[in-house]
Amino acid sequence: MQMNRFDYFMPTKMVYGQGVVREAGSSLALGQKALIVTGRSSARLSGALDDVLAVLPGEHVIYDEVENNPSVDTVMQGGALARKEGCDYVIAIGGGSPLDAAKAMAVLAVNDVHALDLYQNGWETRALPIVAIPTTAGTGSEVTQYAVLTIEDEETKKGLRGPDLFPHVAYLDPKYTESLPLGVTRDTAVDALSHLVESYLSKRATAASDLAALQGMALWGTTISALRQGTLDLEARDALLLASSLGGIAIAQTGTTLVHALGYSLTYYHDMPHGRANGVCMQAYLDYTMGVAPERVKTVLELLELDSVEAFGELMDALFIDEVGKIELTAETLAAYVDKAMQTNNIKNSLGDPVESDLSKILSASIK
Ligand code: NAP
Ligand code: FE
Repeated sequence: MQMNRFDYFMPTKMVYGQGVVREAGSSLALGQKALIVTGRSSARLSGALDDVLAVLPGEHVIYDEVENNPSVDTVMQGGALARKEGCDYVIAIGGGSPLDAAKAMAVLAVNDVHALDLYQNGWETRALPIVAIPTTAGTGSEVTQYAVLTIEDEETKKGLRGPDLFPHVAYLDPKYTESLPLGVTRDTAVDALSHLVESYLSKRATAASDLAALQGMALWGTTISALRQGTLDLEARDALLLASSLGGIAIAQTGTTLVHALGYSLTYYHDMPHGRANGVCMQAYLDYTMGVAPERVKTVLELLELDSVEAFGELMDALFIDEVGKIELTAETLAAYVDKAMQTNNIKNSLGDPVESDLSKILSASIK
């Protein structure tokens, strides 16, 4: 495959290691008054909120109502709160849901418009600066310019993007992921893996995105037996957090592909966690991509020390063993999900220029 031209842009400062938030001290503050955005439990369970509050100078107000797969209403509320309180920067703590919601709030805090307008018209005033502190190792949102929201009117999830959505600083402390239940650890780990693989198998892959994707896949591979056995020590969590951020760095350059495009319907209509929704589509995706870019797929398998696409599928099955029931789709529903996926931008990034019939095959093979 001939390498694409590129310009590499990743403006987020990354501070990585145990204890980095407390060590940041007063430099954690990017202004006078912070809007701290988080979910209902993650900031407290992980210990990240305690660390932030222990060192943060100035004032703050907390919005801790972000739900999984955040809604337009939630980001509207947070944006309005930031405006009312006069916040001049945002601290996001949590998984991808609070991080993404915080990004949209950082825009709405300084642009008094409806969140849905942002998709149509963009925004005039640059978002408030964002500090991102991930407590899952999955989305890489702390180093991307994307914010994915659930759009009820369109019955799907959609990403906003803008250069000002890259957080100003990301503090990465693997200790914050220790409180994750095993199921969420696995789901989010598979999201990170799907970013790395999809970026490497993207039409938009560049030498720069490959650097991150290759290193990330190798690191992710070192955690496979811990993920299988459900015994994740800090070393494995360390590797997963780095792999997740490398996945973010990679998709910031390339975007994701048909896997994410299909996964959105599995999450929206079947409440499947985001990473798992990607994971179930992965084997059929790799089978398809083997037909169009075999060398790249072989490299993925080698880095993960898996000897076939089937072995990759078996790994996904092993990680989602607690999946209750399997999804059954009528031909009509399957066609509707494929149609939705075909309308996304992600689909255009997929090698092989997949058409409806390719996606139908991939989705029906995935929902066993
Ligand atoms: P999440 O939806 O943020 O969180 C899942 C669950 O884990 C929540 O119940 C959360 O609790 C809990 N949790 C988080 N950290 C915890 C911790 N340390 N200890 C205990 N529980 C914890 O999951 P996610 O997979 O990280 O994020 C998924 C979202 O990110 C999706 O909307 C997806 O579309 C988006 N995404 C964004 C990007 C991007 O580039 N921006 C890329 C991929 C995916 P709380 O209720 O307290 O939050
Ligand atoms: Fe994702």
